[in-house]
Amino acid sequence: MIQKLLIANRGEIACRIARSAGEMGIATLAIASQADEDALHVQSCDEVVHLGGHSPAESYLRRDAIISAALERGADAVHPGYGFLSEDPEFAQAVQEAGLIWVGPPAAAIRAMGLKDAAKALMQEAGVPIVPGYHGAAQSLQVLEEAAAQIGYPVLIKAVAGGGGKGMRRVDRPEEFAAHLASAQSEAQSAFGNARVLIEKFIANPRHIEIQVFGDGQKAVHLYERDCSLQRRHQKVIEEAPAPHMPSEVRDAMGRAAVRAAEAIGYASAGTVEFIVDGSAPLHENSFYFMEMNTRLQVEHPVTEEILGIDLVAWQLQVAAGGLLPRAQDEIHAQGHSIEARLYAEDSAQGFLPSIGQLHHLNFGPGLRVETGVAQGGQVTPYYDPMIAKLIATGPDRAGALQRLVRGLKLTEIAGLKTNRDFLIALLQHEDFVAGTFDTGLIARDMQVLTHAPAPTPEDWARAALCAMGL
Ligand code: ADP
Ligand code: ADP
Ligand code: MG
Repeated sequence: MIQKLLIANRGEIACRIARSAGEMGIATLAIASQADEDALHVQSCDEVVHLGGHSPAESYLRRDAIISAALERGADAVHPGYGFLSEDPEFAQAVQEAGLIWVGPPAAAIRAMGLKDAAKALMQEAGVPIVPGYHGAAQSLQVLEEAAAQIGYPVLIKAVAGGGGKGMRRVDRPEEFAAHLASAQSEAQSAFGNARVLIEKFIANPRHIEIQVFGDGQKAVHLYERDCSLQRRHQKVIEEAPAPHMPSEVRDAMGRAAVRAAEAIGYASAGTVEFIVDGSAPLHENSFYFMEMNTRLQVEHPVTEEILGIDLVAWQLQVAAGGLLPRAQDEIHAQGHSIEARLYAEDSAQGFLPSIGQLHHLNFGPGLRVETGVAQGGQVTPYYDPMIAKLIATGPDRAGALQRLVRGLKLTEIAGLKTNRDFLIALLQHEDFVAGTFDTGLIARDMQVLTHAPAPTPEDWARAALCAMGL
């Protein structure tokens, strides 16, 4: 059993991990940058180690300092959360070599899935369907251009080391290929220090459907799917479980493929196998393709927890301490529907520019599960992701969950910063989303309507004036 856990992260995910650890009677040790000295995640843990600095490089990415802190303070385990060091196999290995428990997959599994080209080759060998394309070593313009022509336009250029939608370009016509390739390569080089790319067929009306998996190093189970097709610039905005209009035989086929993927690399802990699905026709057992595997807990894991009634962080802690899989596949049953919206401090009407500053007032609407890393009076700084909270609503069915989320968002009050709240409400009420017939292009197609900010009414001005007068 783990006695004391160092949480190598910040924000909502550090708070989330501290909650489950606390419930299990595990002591928690936070790490904090100078910018986060009084942050909510620090208050959520029993102890804190101040690393100083502001940027991630000066704080949350200081591998040696974090491991030393764990040893000095008597922690026996490290949970990396997501982002930062969560998919860094060197860090996973160093933690273990220091005699600490790593709450995550084996370093070898992280490595196997770390580069998209190698991961695709591995999955192809394991009999998992992959997106048709080229993932070879040769990288000359001529080879890549020929590959694209053979695959057939439109194609997608992807950085093999990519993440967070970076280093990715869709190309519709051969004459545009060279320019897009150069820009993808230079973005990949500066973001990941690796310019290598692969080429994929751009799937028509793409839907992003991913399978949550969980392993104990021997066996793996799948924990249903999440639909994350509402994306802006390849970044998820709204996620839900289960996926709308998902036939059970397709779920079974995807689940089996995901378990195959996880077992092929001896996976332990929580992971996600992401598939791209051809949404131009009803979902079919042969219309999904492996894209990548994220070897960590995912931002959107709460919707899975909600429909299954399980605590994925508790599972991670149990399995990391040497426990077996808490449930077998036939003991995992979903009930109801759950939807998550990512509330960001950003100005939707101004190209989603991050909005930095103090949250003077913050009151989340009723009926929601709230995962947040800030409180009223707290700061959104320029140093990290400007997410304020993940708001999650669950209901007996999709319509019920949706109604609850829209109501909760409408009754959420935020002052001090611009947020994407109204954009989220518009998105959740979009007729295609309500009908469950949407693809990853929805937001870009209807951006104008979705980001149209209604002018304040005379009542709004009157209320603002009364507030300003302290009435
Ligand atoms: P998901 O949302 O599906 O969990 P994302 O790709 O959006 O996955 O990434 C989750 C978190 O990890 C985000 O906070 C994102 O900023 C961060 N992240 C993703 N890729 C990288 C990367 N290559 N380097 C650092 N952080 C990353
Ligand atoms: P990242 O590491 O940045 O998350 P992914 O390979 O997971 O990169 O792709 C991110 C998103 O890009 C997907 O969720 C999907 O919306 C889109 N995408 C990826 N591959 C394809 C494809 N072959 N066809 C259409 N859309 C794709
Ligand atoms: Mg992805």
